[in-house]
Amino acid sequence: MITFENVTKRYTVSTDPALADVSIDVGRGDFAFLIGTSGSGKSTMLQLMTRQITASRGAILVAGRDLRTLPDRHVPQLRRDIGVVFQDFRLLENKTVTQNVAFALQVLGTKRHRIKQMVPEILELVSLDGLAKRRPHELSGGEQQRVAIARAMVKKPQILLADEPTGNLDPDTSTEIVKVLERINKTGTTVVVATHDERIVDLFRKRVIELHNGKLVRDEQLGSYIAEP
Ligand code: ADP
Ligand code: ADP
Repeated sequence: MITFENVTKRYTVSTDPALADVSIDVGRGDFAFLIGTSGSGKSTMLQLMTRQITASRGAILVAGRDLRTLPDRHVPQLRRDIGVVFQDFRLLENKTVTQNVAFALQVLGTKRHRIKQMVPEILELVSLDGLAKRRPHELSGGEQQRVAIARAMVKKPQILLADEPTGNLDPDTSTEIVKVLERINKTGTTVVVATHDERIVDLFRKRVIELHNGKLVRDEQLGSYIAEP
């Protein structure tokens, strides 16, 4: 589903690359934690997957597309296949939960009757059915993140990318959010979670892809945060 072949990303010619000769293969239906300290290249990898930025060298394939040759006019179609959630939720403050989620479909031109059908379904998947009429400021952090996940998933993407999704949440709420991501993964969605939340990585024991100074230093099934000797 996501392949990096010897990918290097340089933001500037004079500094070390943000990503150096990285090769990984994330298959359909995988769940991977992308870990590493701040500045190790995690966000760079996620931004390369959505073609927000382009690689300096190497090949990237996402959902059957070669991002080197993908014309700019096809990038919106690529992004329909990828849901993204962030640490800071990025919800529309003046819209209700339902409106926030519906908006993701409106911009794709989905018909009104379809939106009315799809939004309640996805709110149920993230256990938000009772909060449909609330606005973000009336929700806890965990609830806001579930709205963001619902918004990312309502277009039924093949891939869900999460950039530090538990960064603003307490431990119990973080666990709940990763359980929601796990539930989404079980429906067949490929999930990649960039994080430096050691506790959740050790709790869920998924594939661990570790970066250090832009280099891939570990790719391990059922990994923990700290590499076992
Ligand atoms: P992480 O997500 O693991 O914190 P990033 O991918 O954000 O790491 O950053 C990797 C490296 O690339 C860091 O050294 C960072 O300073 C640099 N970097 C990230 N974005 C830019 C940018 N837009 N311009 C220049 N350097 C950048
Ligand atoms: P936490 O501190 O655990 O992040 P909050 O104290 O923000 O959570 O919220 C606890 C509960 O109260 C949540 O279920 C949230 O939906 C509800 N809540 C918070 N603020 C409001 C509000 N202004 N109106 C209605 N419900 C609210």
